[in-house]
Amino acid sequence: QLRVRYAPSPTGHLHIGGARTALFDYLLARKLGGKFVIRFEDTDQTRHVESGIGSQLEGLQWLGLDWDESVDVGGPYGPYRQTERLDLYRPFIEQLLQSGSAYHCYCSEADLERERAEQEARSEMPRYSGKCRHVTPEELERYQAEGRKPSVRFRVKEDRVIAFEDRVREHVEFDSGGIGDFIIVRPDGIPTYNFAVILDDHLMDINLVIRGEEHLSNTPRQIMMYEALGLPIPEFAHLSLILNQDRKKMSKRDESIIQFIQQYQELGYLPEAVMNFIALLGWSPKGEEEIFSKEELIEQFGLDRVSKSPAVFDMDKLNWMNNHYLKKAELSRVVELSLPHLQKAGLVPEQPGTEQLEWVTRLVGLNQERMQYAAEIVPLSELFFQDEVTHVEEEAKALLAEDHVPIVLRGFLDEVEKAETFAAEHIPAMLKAVQKATGYKGKQLFMTIRVALTGQTHGPDLNMTVFLLGRNKVVARLNKLL
Ligand code: GLU
Repeated sequence: QLRVRYAPSPTGHLHIGGARTALFDYLLARKLGGKFVIRFEDTDQTRHVESGIGSQLEGLQWLGLDWDESVDVGGPYGPYRQTERLDLYRPFIEQLLQSGSAYHCYCSEADLERERAEQEARSEMPRYSGKCRHVTPEELERYQAEGRKPSVRFRVKEDRVIAFEDRVREHVEFDSGGIGDFIIVRPDGIPTYNFAVILDDHLMDINLVIRGEEHLSNTPRQIMMYEALGLPIPEFAHLSLILNQDRKKMSKRDESIIQFIQQYQELGYLPEAVMNFIALLGWSPKGEEEIFSKEELIEQFGLDRVSKSPAVFDMDKLNWMNNHYLKKAELSRVVELSLPHLQKAGLVPEQPGTEQLEWVTRLVGLNQERMQYAAEIVPLSELFFQDEVTHVEEEAKALLAEDHVPIVLRGFLDEVEKAETFAAEHIPAMLKAVQKATGYKGKQLFMTIRVALTGQTHGPDLNMTVFLLGRNKVVARLNKLL
């Protein structure tokens, strides 16, 4: 049975890179009837944020993922947080020390610093010299008298080639010569990432490790430790980097891309659209189709179509995709996503009345086709909240200078003023009456009124636009131009 895991260090919000790893784990586990485990790697206390665990899980949940084992749902392999598993690691540390695969290292930060500087001066690749492989009894006595606390280092055999078949990158080889003896337990007794990760993957029966390419160079270290402990080695699948739109390596500060899942949630993206988009970061389906529901992704996903080359994060494509999903979504759902943005912008009160809610529903309905994400309702609908048209497009200005304009606008104003009610369903009849009275029709009629009321030549349905503006704003805008 397949057992895969997503193993974030809870350093903050859920990043798209982590979300992609988790999604691929999830899709494969669900496709093959395996188990999807979420484990938190929090042994690096300095980088750890307490809210990180909740925030990772919330992000994944919002995306539509669920998991079989983790800190919240429990499971037979718990605990699922490394700092609660420290006792489980101890026998393995002993085993490595006893077999001579690891040794105590008493070098201080200053010693190591000096060593690195010397190596750099000789233009050598900095790596640990192996000094503490041979500590004399006198040295040991001195270190202990000084109260130095040792770390534990793994002894790397020289002149070895470590090779493995990666499920994405295929044949991978590393030369052990470039890898110095590395620390597996810090002086405070807490294992480092490379060590804890293999112990947990082993103890949790993980048989396929899916993770980002940035961990590829850790893999030979991990394989050496599995071998030294006589443990079975899982399969690996390293996912390619995600590049930004300029095809550069993305940095956390890159603002051309929205990088955290919570931000998508806040901006009013639909989780199924974000999931669909993330699935395509490195995986490509068989045909041309790009729109996939979660169920379809589960059915079609496989590591055989995950690419070795970097994925490019195309924000325009994501916006296109989200718009596609928004257009199909229930209006009530789009209203629910949009309302908080209108409220935050101070355009709609916190406790809107029934009539106001109806009005907002129509406003959202009017813009549903155009919205890329729900927060866009604010710029798209500002026009309906302002007293006057504040911005008139160049093209619109030219149109307003044409001779028929005053006649059409006057005719329309007459109709608006004499109408008994200003209901949505009466607007077409009013426009028809203007046509009859003025003799203008088609573009000369409709475009003139659109431009006069909105300052724009393009926009959503005119009848609904007129209605949503309401009688007072319509009258004021017409009067201003006449
Ligand atoms: N804690 C590691 C990270 O967040 C996990 C790496 C792995 O999956 O092995 O990058």
